[in-house]
Amino acid sequence: MAKWVYMFTEGNATMRNLLGGKGANLAEMTNLGLPVPQGFTVTTEACTQYYEDGRQINDEIMGQIMEAIDKMEGITGKKFGDKENPLLVSVRSGARASMPGMMDTILNLGLNEEVVETLSKASGNPRWAWDCYRRFIQMFSDVVMEVGKKYFEELIDKMKADRGVKQDVELTAEDLKELANQFKAEYKEKIGADFPSDPKEQLMEAVKAVFRSWDNPRANVYRRDNDIPYSWGTAVNVQMMAFGNMGDDCGTGVAFTRDPATGENGLFGEFLTNAQGEDVVAGVRTPMHISEMEEKFPEAFVQFKQVCETLEKHYRDMQDMEFTVEHGKLYMLQTRNGKRTAKAALKIACDLVDEGMRTEEEAVAMIDPRNLDSLLHPQFDAAALKAATPMAKALGASPGAACGKIVFTADDAVEWAARGEKVVLVRLETSPEDITGMKSAQGILTVRGGMTSHAAVVARGMGTCCVSGCGDITMDEANKKFTLAGKEYHEGDCISLDGSTGNIYDGIIPTVDATIAGEFGRIMGWADKYRTMKVRTNADTPADAKKARELGAEGIGLCRTEHMFFEGNRIDAFREMICSETVEEREAALAKILPEQQGDFEKLYEALEGNPVTIRFLDPPLHEFVPTEEEDIKKLADAQGKTVEQIKAIIDGLHEFNPMMGHRGCRLAVTYPEIAKMQTSAVIRAAINVKKAHPDWNVKPEIMIPLVGDIKELKYVKKFVVETADAEIAAAGSDLEYEVGTMIEIPRAALTADDIAKEADFFCFGTNDLTQMTYGFSRDDAGKFLDAYYDAKIFENDPFAKLDQTGVGKLMNMAIELGKPVNPNLHVGICGEHGGDPSSVEFCNKIGLDYVSCSPFRVPIARLAAAQAAI
Ligand code: ADP
Ligand code: MG
Ligand code: MG
Repeated sequence: MAKWVYMFTEGNATMRNLLGGKGANLAEMTNLGLPVPQGFTVTTEACTQYYEDGRQINDEIMGQIMEAIDKMEGITGKKFGDKENPLLVSVRSGARASMPGMMDTILNLGLNEEVVETLSKASGNPRWAWDCYRRFIQMFSDVVMEVGKKYFEELIDKMKADRGVKQDVELTAEDLKELANQFKAEYKEKIGADFPSDPKEQLMEAVKAVFRSWDNPRANVYRRDNDIPYSWGTAVNVQMMAFGNMGDDCGTGVAFTRDPATGENGLFGEFLTNAQGEDVVAGVRTPMHISEMEEKFPEAFVQFKQVCETLEKHYRDMQDMEFTVEHGKLYMLQTRNGKRTAKAALKIACDLVDEGMRTEEEAVAMIDPRNLDSLLHPQFDAAALKAATPMAKALGASPGAACGKIVFTADDAVEWAARGEKVVLVRLETSPEDITGMKSAQGILTVRGGMTSHAAVVARGMGTCCVSGCGDITMDEANKKFTLAGKEYHEGDCISLDGSTGNIYDGIIPTVDATIAGEFGRIMGWADKYRTMKVRTNADTPADAKKARELGAEGIGLCRTEHMFFEGNRIDAFREMICSETVEEREAALAKILPEQQGDFEKLYEALEGNPVTIRFLDPPLHEFVPTEEEDIKKLADAQGKTVEQIKAIIDGLHEFNPMMGHRGCRLAVTYPEIAKMQTSAVIRAAINVKKAHPDWNVKPEIMIPLVGDIKELKYVKKFVVETADAEIAAAGSDLEYEVGTMIEIPRAALTADDIAKEADFFCFGTNDLTQMTYGFSRDDAGKFLDAYYDAKIFENDPFAKLDQTGVGKLMNMAIELGKPVNPNLHVGICGEHGGDPSSVEFCNKIGLDYVSCSPFRVPIARLAAAQAAI
């Protein structure tokens, strides 16, 4: 028979998966001999079983719970529902990872009309007894039966008003008794049945409610944001009550062994006399600072200090604890490794190493890489942010804080920024031609698009705050205005964006610059020491590359060259090339761009100082480059000696129904070899020049051909790339070496990687496209139905943010296993958005990638994640 229930004396801290964090730690504290009110844990497996059984607790589990209650009665000498010496318990949820959004705790379970009378008489403290009872009815109704809290709060407020008192504690026993009766009446009215009086029935309903809460919408959202699988389930803890509400020699508190905001070593917490459970955090009364507890409860305080020390030494980490003092005696109700800010996390990890409690490797493993993000971007002033109310929420697509005046076009953004204005660019969606405008903006807000939409990807790359997919906006781009939350916004109005939460605020919220503390560098140093996988960056400009190198990038894994066609007048020349009718015309147009692109590459090689640079040849469909404004079309027509109609016909001809699967990537090079030849010349000439200027640098171009699906495509393109490159090298009399590789982003390329590896010097997994093509859904549109997928439990995460290891990962693994034996020198990396996602980085390490490449601001995250994967 499976074991579904463990007494606290039977468990320990290593049983977290089975007992949940709370249960495992209650057991561990019991083992350490700390004063823990005893009880038992119903396992996470019982939760999974509950769902398998169609949301029912089967007889076996029910039987074991009842047995455990018997044992508790034995340990405590109290009896459930007894009229002489009743046992009261709390029912608490506890998943593997601590999870706000799950069920609230129920306290004082086991009370009913008779038991409360007994308690009242036996204790000589009727006020306490009735306080417990009214709390219990309130919590049970709210949590188990989902009768809203507010009905009970209204009744309390009314009672306080009637009695002319301000605080709950000022209500008398009689008042509380009356309240309890009112609560029960409220319950009956809302539920249509009497409040359950049988403690066993109360308990089973409460356990079910905990299991149920695992699947509530708040919990589902939290899990998705925090990478917690649905399959884990939650445990339930049933624990004897300790009473902090029995009088002025009682109280309840929460404390951290170190300051969770700064990491400062020292007790940090709050304590409230004559109170129970959530009173401390709920803010019903202002609690005292933990140091005051020393004066009011000297003995319990001394004991508590010792417990803190024991726990920190034992867990070797900062602890977050809950405790209660009943008539001067201390009870420990919870301990866990405390949540902390990124800044505190770094300080605590370093301090623990210095205090000899942790090794460097352990310190590295303690930091959640995702938290580092918040240290790398400007942030809102914390107090100002707290005081502000968001007017809408969309996807937090690129972290950071932005505030400024609204502009509606990229050109306006550039222009306004040039005259010193801070602007926020608001668009339906962005396109490659908006890049410079995006760069000039403090932040970007889009109506459409998901986490990997153009705006999101580019913004993350630039480290610019971006909130995307705000469907609540009614946009009127033509008239430069939009409506949101009932207000009309015009050009020049102020808004603020929080790129981490996706919150949008009216007006300006002040920001402060991010600072990199000393501990940050120390931890990163250790991470570099222990990781084996390299970390490169996706950077298109020398400025991005420089930033990324400051953040520790060891090369460029992806330089997208398409942006190089937009700068300055180049777009004119490129449009001429698109609208050319002969090879000669095209070559003439491209010849104008060649020196410019060569200059860009030279600057990149300079910025990288001999570190590797992978340059991807032109990838997006040509229609993204053609003019849309009448005026630009006219200009192009004039330059080409064609009519406006002719140009429009050419543009129409470029229209594609499915551009992401259209005429792009290496297909462009197949139809227009001139483009790839021009890019080859630009790369090789740049490299030769930089190598000449810096003979000690290892300048070795890595040319990357995108979107290859068939070996013959790569062979075809590679042939003239190599011819062009060799001719350039020979003409310059140089000994430059170079590599030609390919992206693996079409499933067929992964499936035939043994062929492709014969021609490729390297593979780079473009997992944005590979995910899109493997699932067959568009990365720009998937956001529209992903929510339904989450609700239906088909997806737990956005596969564009977190790599689908099962499917896409299998293709990657296959490509490596097929490719390496054919070409032992093959080096392999990843340059999709996943390159900066910690769990995906771990996977990349596992399947043997040589490097991950991610946007500059994610480089530290990837370095840390790579170290954690290696440790
Ligand atoms: P949360 O995860 O929201 O903190 P908890 O289960 O830890 O939920 O409990 C909520 C509150 O109730 C905490 O303040 C906790 O200390 C208190 N509490 C829980 N169980 C007991 C108990 N057996 N005796 C006294 N207080 C309790
Ligand atoms: Mg708690
Ligand atoms: Mg791609």
